Amino acid sequence: MPPDKAGIIPRLRQRSASTLQPVMPVNSPQIPVAVRPSGCPGLLRIVQALDGGICRIKLAGGAISTAQARVVADGAERFAAGVIEATNRANLQIRGIGADHSGLIDSLLAAGLGPTTVAGDDVRNLMLSPTAGIDRQRLVDTRPLAQQILATLQSHPRFAQLSAKFAVQLDGGEALAMLDHHHDLWLSACTLAGQPALAFGVAGCLRDRPLAAVPLAQGHDLVVAVLEWFLDHARPEHNRMRQLLVETPVDKLLADLATRLPLLAIADWQRAAPTAGLHLGTYPQGDSGYVYVGAAAPLGRLDPAKLRGAAHLAQAFGDGSLRLTPWQSLLLPNIRAEDGPQVLAALEQLGLLGSADQALAHVIACTGSPGCAKAQADTKADAVRLAALLQGTERCTEVHLSGCPRSCAAAHPAAVTLLAVAPGHYDLYFSAAGLPGFGAPHARNLTIEAAGALLGARPRSHP
Ligand code: SF4
Repeated sequence: MPPDKAGIIPRLRQRSASTLQPVMPVNSPQIPVAVRPSGCPGLLRIVQALDGGICRIKLAGGAISTAQARVVADGAERFAAGVIEATNRANLQIRGIGADHSGLIDSLLAAGLGPTTVAGDDVRNLMLSPTAGIDRQRLVDTRPLAQQILATLQSHPRFAQLSAKFAVQLDGGEALAMLDHHHDLWLSACTLAGQPALAFGVAGCLRDRPLAAVPLAQGHDLVVAVLEWFLDHARPEHNRMRQLLVETPVDKLLADLATRLPLLAIADWQRAAPTAGLHLGTYPQGDSGYVYVGAAAPLGRLDPAKLRGAAHLAQAFGDGSLRLTPWQSLLLPNIRAEDGPQVLAALEQLGLLGSADQALAHVIACTGSPGCAKAQADTKADAVRLAALLQGTERCTEVHLSGCPRSCAAAHPAAVTLLAVAPGHYDLYFSAAGLPGFGAPHARNLTIEAAGALLGARPRSHP
């Protein structure tokens, strides 16, 4: 049996109605839902954009079964314009949704893609490594703890007050890991005095120094304690932990936590650097004889054919599941090693990017002017042109095209940012330590051709 068979998704899928948590459970398409207002899309709250509605489907641990993936593909065709996006939080979203919102929502709920409670849709924001449980360098299989945390996030009556953007990351020490995304709370597996533990920090990312650690067995209690502390102290205008910490010292958080949990000192510990590029291509899952195969959705965009094709491959060669990644890519786990090259080639035939040699795999872009009223340019079309200009220049730095300063496509500052100022024209920024936002401005009002020439000519030692 592949080593992933006891994973988080099979267990969540087995959840019966009798085990659903209270507070308006979402266990049937027929139950009317009362969803709080917010500008953030959810599965239960379809938000309008220029190109139609957006429905965000949050995936437990980034994982989705092949049957569920087919439901998403069908829904994108039947109720929307056929655009499916892989998000930088390892979720899926359907764009261009027409008038029949309830038809789409019902189909997704019937496939088991909904939250366990209505309020839980907004707060089920827990990110894992895409290779949780199968990564060859993992210290801990985070999936059982993640399942416990996800259940509590959705069922704890007070957690419904958290912002839809409030997010937690749980890291098992995997080689494939996103260290740069900001989270309100992060936990990272480590070993202290020979015992498994979780280092943790708040209002930051996995590259930061931790505040302290707790024994691994206290991980769930730590999440509950930190989130309850946030709700105890936050005022209505505080949506994120960093806003609260401007007024309330982090030492108070630590002192209060110490009354509830056995905090461990963890001086000098820092999360080991991950290996870059492990989300594209074929990589062994330890010495199990299995590999995972990863390929990126160009500019985060899938379509029903790509998603169905990937699902077919996961069914035929894998364990019937797919995983989304924060690099807007797909990963097929538990493929027999001898089948890996064939599966990767098939993903590339579907139009997915399976190699870091492709410049488009290093370019991200927001929705742009076809779908967003704030956009100054068609960022995705410009990104395709830029990638063609950069192909063959040996440049593999991440380049981000943003239609406006809101920077929706990038969950953390990219090395290079092109900020649209007019159709086809961009200001160029290079990230710089200590500078907020996009970094240091370098050139103004560049055409895509000029940006391509400038970036292509830059030495690789520069961003
Ligand atoms: S970054 Fe700006 S232009 Fe792009 S999708 Fe977000 S709001 Fe729209």
